[in-house]
Amino acid sequence: MSDPRGRLATYLDQRRRMGEPGVMPAELAPGELLALLRTTAAPASGRRREAGGQGVVPASREAESAKGNAAGGSASPFPLPEAASADYRALREMALACTRCRLAEGRRHVVFSDGNPAGRLMVVGEAPGAREDATGLPFVGQAGKLLDLMLASVGLSRSDSVYICNVLKCRPPGNRNPLPDEIDACAPLLKRQIDLVSPEVLLAAGTFAARWLTETNKPLGKLRGEVYSYQGVPLVVTYHPAALLRNPGWNRLCWDDLQLLRQVMDGPS
Ligand code: SF4
Repeated sequence: MSDPRGRLATYLDQRRRMGEPGVMPAELAPGELLALLRTTAAPASGRRREAGGQGVVPASREAESAKGNAAGGSASPFPLPEAASADYRALREMALACTRCRLAEGRRHVVFSDGNPAGRLMVVGEAPGAREDATGLPFVGQAGKLLDLMLASVGLSRSDSVYICNVLKCRPPGNRNPLPDEIDACAPLLKRQIDLVSPEVLLAAGTFAARWLTETNKPLGKLRGEVYSYQGVPLVVTYHPAALLRNPGWNRLCWDDLQLLRQVMDGPS
């Protein structure tokens, strides 16, 4: 196995199976984590792109729908044209030419997805940043490498088992937070994307994805630690990797979330 991420995944998975709890990245010093990030390979260029028993909490259980955010199961004020949502290819083509909100004006690329549409896990992040806008791929740069490391720690990789996208497909200027009307406009794409990819499990990375998928306005810290159901798909919530880079003290909590995710993916033992 020549792929460094593959070797790292195997190593971390072996340690996890041996019952060692702190393999990533909770007990790493910042320097160690950065060294790991530097030695973790960039996403493999040859991967396939863009091919066409837990206690589960229902996502809308509290009727605390995210105001103005066209939350997960809710009807959108901006429905998709029927032809655009016929299949995955049509949806992607529609997204790549989308002008449904103001973010179309300043973007360089629409960032639709990365990873394997046939993967078991679908990760939903927030919105593209500068590097994502420049490359057209979600989760690149340091946050993307950390996401790859997080996934590797539980034996997952965007090269085979994971599909990745964001709530917003275009970069908000200056990396500001998404606005409610932008989420309203873009969420139907995500909703249809989830329908078409049909993942076994969802991972919400960050506040905006977690709120939209759980249909609440709760802070992320209060959403973590439970398994939700988005339209029947088990959903786990964790911090966005960019937030982890800013707050290394949350690494331990993220590790717990990843263990929960792994348990959901492994099913009842
Ligand atoms: S953010 Fe979404 S809705 Fe807005 S232009 Fe981009 S793809 Fe369209």
